[in-house]
This record gives sequence, structure tokens and C-alpha cells, in this order.
Amino acid sequence: MKRRHFMQTGFAALAATALPAVYNQSTYASRIGKRPSELKIIDIKRQTVRLPFRPAPQRAMDREIPHWRYCEIVQVELSGGAIGIGEGLLYYSWGVTSDEAVQSAIGSNAADLMWNDDLGAGLQMALFDAVGKAGGVPAHRLLGNQVYDTTPLSWWNIDMPTKDMLSECQEALRLGYKAYKTKGRPWFDLWDQTETCAKAMPEDFKIDMDFNETLLTAKQGIPILKWMDQFPQVDIYESPIPQSDIHGNAAITKAVRAGVSLHYGTPSPKDVVKHDVCDGFVIGGGATRLMRQAHVAETMDMRFWLQLVGAGLTAAFSLHFGAVCSAATWPAVNCHQLYVHDMLKEPIRVRNGLAAIPDKPGLGVELDWSIVHRYAVEKPAERPDPARMIETTYTDGRRMYTANNGTVNFMLNPARFPGNMPYFEKGVDSKLLPNDGSARWKELYERSRKEGPIVIEP
Ligand SMILES: [Mg+2]
Repeated sequence: MKRRHFMQTGFAALAATALPAVYNQSTYASRIGKRPSELKIIDIKRQTVRLPFRPAPQRAMDREIPHWRYCEIVQVELSGGAIGIGEGLLYYSWGVTSDEAVQSAIGSNAADLMWNDDLGAGLQMALFDAVGKAGGVPAHRLLGNQVYDTTPLSWWNIDMPTKDMLSECQEALRLGYKAYKTKGRPWFDLWDQTETCAKAMPEDFKIDMDFNETLLTAKQGIPILKWMDQFPQVDIYESPIPQSDIHGNAAITKAVRAGVSLHYGTPSPKDVVKHDVCDGFVIGGGATRLMRQAHVAETMDMRFWLQLVGAGLTAAFSLHFGAVCSAATWPAVNCHQLYVHDMLKEPIRVRNGLAAIPDKPGLGVELDWSIVHRYAVEKPAERPDPARMIETTYTDGRRMYTANNGTVNFMLNPARFPGNMPYFEKGVDSKLLPNDGSARWKELYERSRKEGPIVIEP
């Protein structure tokens, strides 16, 4: 497997403390149940917020995933007085905290419960915050031994026109970031996006592209990726083709200069090692799953980036995982840069691509309740899915219309299979086509809702 130079993270020369011996969970739980605990969960409150996006992300998110605005704050109170706070996006998360999880958590011991990934993102995060505060230790001490005192962060955006992508790269650089992750999509001009942004950025500013399998095959994808390889700023290609295509991904990994990353799990880690399928992983999810996968990656000598998506609290929680995961050396994707306000009192500062690991108890950050109150809304009964249609234009005059149809990835899903829309080509551009009230808009919209992307020849 190729070895490449990637961003280094600072190493904290911290003495390793012995971990507690593995306990028998049932014995332990019954023992603590018999004596007063400071960790009993006595109250859980939840509040939904609708967070505004910054202007450039808003233009892009409104096309495809406007529901990322909705976030739920979860506040847990323990019998000893500690208050823990977590958050989770309501419509994009590894797990949304359910009413049942909240009800069954009341009366439980927070330390006994917190490793249960069935809690969902918001409640699990709040428990790690509360237990850390009750014990006077940062959350990362509950996750493992600290190996880094800083961890790399990436800026993130969904696919956007070159002009917006460039301004976002510049904003990331201005705020101390050294990495920008975005999407590679057949409905934008990948050549223009790559060349314009790479040439405008210093060489040590890295651009990573997640294709979500839309390059389809190694044969079709390799020439495009090898062209992108010429720019030193281009650093990682994520899921270029279907992840299950072991030999195709292995061929790409061998052929290209930049790193190839896959979401952990498909192919199996065993096959990844056996066939040199990729250079590293995307790892996220609940604390138990995340740490298990992180340990496997570390054992396999594979690097990864943490992908925990939300606003500021999520990014803070991710920093704690970054502190204890020795293989988390690719920059983490948390997406909190999307929002006008990430709801933290003090924003997470990035210098030279790195953020400091919080050292105060719990998550070590404070929520700005005035922002929570400002954006508080009723929790929607279901995922808001406003009617919208995307117009894609090609240089030869073809036009493609794609309407939202109830599925979350209504434009991505058809692009992941051949024959549903034109492949990557130069000069292609896309924008939201507002409903002008015309019969034509309505007709195209209704047709595309049923049939998927509609291509109209000139
Ligand atoms: Mg991905």
C-alpha cells in the first residue's frame, strides 16, 4: 500500500493512565442500583431549533437537503446536579433520539447507560457531557487515553457552483482551515471546480471530493481522477465508485496519487486489507460503534477521518474522539461551518488546520442559550420537504430537470447507477429553478417526481 504524507497532528506527551478492569455489567448495574448515586438521570428536556445557513451553503443546501436546518438540543439533569447537553440533526444523523429512548433513560445511571448507541446522537452526547462534568473530567477521558492535544478539522460543503466553492475555500483558509471537503457530482463541471479552486489555494490547502459512487466504474473514473491528481491541493477521493466493487476500488487506489477513502464497513475490513481496496476510512456513528471501528482501523494501520455531522456541540464531541483515536489523522468532517451560528458561546478555533482538544469537564464547551431561544421552533411532525426542481444545463443545449420526490437523495440516487442521467462532462451547471407558476414548470415537476431526472434534447 502506498504511503503518503498527510497532515500531522500534534502529539500530547501524556502519561497513559490505567483503564479500569472490564466489569460484569449486570453485577455492576445491580450494585450501583442499591446505593445513592450522583449520576441518576432525573430530567431530560428537548428543544428543536431551525438554524439558518450562511448564504453560500444556503444556496446549495436549498437545492438538495434543506432539512439539515433542524437540530434538537437535549439537556440531561443528573441527581448530583450535573447538567449535560447534546444535540442531533433531526433529519441527518447516525441516530435520532427517540421519545422511547428519553422515557426509558429517566431513572437510569448515566454512566451505566451512555455507551448504548440506541440512545441516538443528542442523548448519548448529553450523557457523556453530564458524566464528564459530574466526574470533573473532559469527555475524552471517558472515551480512552488521550494521544493528541490537537486534531485536524475539515471545512465542508455539499456540491456547489465553482464561484461559491471558491469563496468557501477562501473563507475556510481565512479561518485557519487547511482542508475542504465537498461532493463530486455529474451535474457540475468538475474540471472547472477543481482547477479554479486548486489554483487559487496554497499547495498545503487540501481539497477532498466525495463522489458517493457516481464515477460508477474504475474504467470511467480513473482518467478523471488522474487528471485531478495533477493538482497538489487535491488530496482524497471518497467513495469514487460503488464501495462493494472491491477490485474496482483497488484499481483506483493503485492508479491514483491522492488517497482513496471509503465509509467503514463495505467491503469488510478483512477484504480491504487483503485486496488493498483503499487508503483509509470515514468513521462515525454512536460512541460504541465509532470506537470499535477506530480500533480496527488503528490495528489495520489505516487512517480515517471522523464524520460526526451537526452544529457546534457535535463538532466539540468529535474533538474528544479525535483526542483518543490515534488513526484519526485525516481532517474531521462536522459540517458546523454551514450555519450562521453553531450555537456555541465560543466558536471552535482552527489554527493551521488543527483545533485544540477541550480540557474542561464534559464536552468542555458552552451552549449559547440566547441563540437556541432565537431559533427555537416546534419539532416538525415529519421531514420538511418543500417542492423544488433543479435545472441542469449542458453546453450542447440539453437540459435536465430533477424534482424532489420524497426520497432524501432524490438527485444523488439516480446518479449512482448508469443510464439515469448524463455522466460527468465539461461545462455542465445546475441551479434551483423556482416555481414561476407556469404550466411548464408544473408539468416538468410532476413528470420528474414520477420518472426521475428528465433530459430534454435541444
Ligand atoms: Mg460520504
